[in-house]
Amino acid sequence: MPRKKKLPSPLTNLSEKEIRQLRAIDERLHRVVQERRASMPRPAVHAEQSFGSITFRYETVRCGKANCTRCPHGPYWYAYWKEGGRTRSRYVGRVLPEQARAVYEAKQRAKLERNKP
Ligand SMILES: [Zn+2]
Repeated sequence: MPRKKKLPSPLTNLSEKEIRQLRAIDERLHRVVQERRASMPRPAVHAEQSFGSITFRYETVRCGKANCTRCPHGPYWYAYWKEGGRTRSRYVGRVLPEQARAVYEAKQRAKLERNKP
C-alpha cells in the first residue's frame, strides 16, 4: 500500500490577521461550549420529595448499554423507601403519583413565594 504523502499543515501559511481571526473564533466557541455545559441538565437528581416514609426522586439514569447514544435517559420519578433496614427503590414514571405531586407542587409554590423580591 503506497503511503500518503504528508501535506504541510495549512496553518503554516496563515497571515497574522488570519491567525488572530482563528483565535477569536476559537475563544468564541469555547465560550459557547462552556455556556451550554452550564445550562445543561446534569445526570443527577433534579428534584426530591418525601411523602410519608417514601422519598420520590426525579432523576436521569444511565441504561448501561455499551453503544447507547441517548444516555442519560429521563428524567423519571423513582420511589425510595426503607424495608427491613434496606433501601428499596421502584420506577414510578414520567409523572409523580397524584398525592405526592400535590405535596411537591405546594412546596414548589412556597419556594417561589419565598424567592420573590
Ligand atoms: Zn442509554
